[in-house]
Amino acid sequence: MTPLPPGSTIGILGGGQLGRMLALAAARLGFDVAILEPEENSPAARVAAHAIVGAYDDARALTALAEISDVITFEFENVPALAVERLIALGAHVAPNARALAVAQDRVEEKTFLNSAGVPTVAFAKADTPDEAAEALHVIGAPALMKTRRDGYDGKGQKWVEHASTAQAVFAALGGKPVIVEAPADFVRELSVIAARGAGGEIAVYPLSENHHEAGVLRRTVAPAEVPQETADQAERIAAQILTSLDYVGVIGIELFEHADGRLLVNEIAPRVHNTGHWTQDGCEVDQFEQHIRAVAGWPLGPTHATSRVEMVNLLGEEALAWAHLAGEPDARLHLYGKRDAKPGRKMGHVNRRRPLASSGHSHRSE
Ligand code: AMP
Repeated sequence: MTPLPPGSTIGILGGGQLGRMLALAAARLGFDVAILEPEENSPAARVAAHAIVGAYDDARALTALAEISDVITFEFENVPALAVERLIALGAHVAPNARALAVAQDRVEEKTFLNSAGVPTVAFAKADTPDEAAEALHVIGAPALMKTRRDGYDGKGQKWVEHASTAQAVFAALGGKPVIVEAPADFVRELSVIAARGAGGEIAVYPLSENHHEAGVLRRTVAPAEVPQETADQAERIAAQILTSLDYVGVIGIELFEHADGRLLVNEIAPRVHNTGHWTQDGCEVDQFEQHIRAVAGWPLGPTHATSRVEMVNLLGEEALAWAHLAGEPDARLHLYGKRDAKPGRKMGHVNRRRPLASSGHSHRSE
């Protein structure tokens, strides 16, 4: 791909905080951004050159986006597959590709893909009916985690099945939709790796993040995570296998379970910039947002080594009201998303607190 010159327009499906931070990074490189999002006045639209308000499957809105954009990307993975197909049919260049999106939208497809690419996950079984749910529990054993195949996020759409005898009831409680049944991961820590693949196939991997969730929502990330070199190498191999097998272009977030013996399993992949990569804004020379824009625009990827250790804390709901206090903390960098309505639990912003780098923050690069 010939690199897109500054002045080109990057289309983004989705107008949330990830779209906003992508738009800000794109602007810094001289690009214009067009946001397509169903809601008026979205966080991303308010910092973008063009805002198209419409449903993701609205033909008129998709045509307008395709006409204005030199490349189109997305900020969340539940964009309808049909929307991407339409954009491609209109001659648009979409990155990451439709396959990456399809794989990430369905937990069974995702784990099947990962295993076929040689990437380990927990054991799993699929179930479309109550009887299949009972059968899956016999295969996987109890306890097991039942999750809807599609549309789950932030711990929603999943429940533990403590006894095989309750499999059918849990299936019904999840809405009677197709599910995946997963063996419990016996992890000591949740880690993630943010990586990118450029249009020419080059790969750049950021140091690992250590993540802490509360009630299914990311609360805190510390990065670079303190891990043995072997763990960092393992994560780098996993990222490269996934990116190459998908012929991926852009940034990807890969959530990992770390076992006591150091073995990593992949929990899930997000074909986009990721909340556990927000630390890169203040811990790296080129953050995940700029990296994604560079990749989809066909530019060279930037360096990924850490220049600081960062503790990232999400500001949920009214926590963002402490902005004046946070802005007064010398080591804290405040990032607010411009959301008007501080509903409880809603991600309103985050704060990155810089710490001295414990050891050399490794950068992993391979061709
Ligand atoms: P997910 O929606 O798949 O990202 O899962 C949300 C959270 O549930 C993860 O961050 C883990 O803390 C936990 N979790 C997910 N899958 C498993 C599993 N198979 N075993 C144990 N815990 C899990």
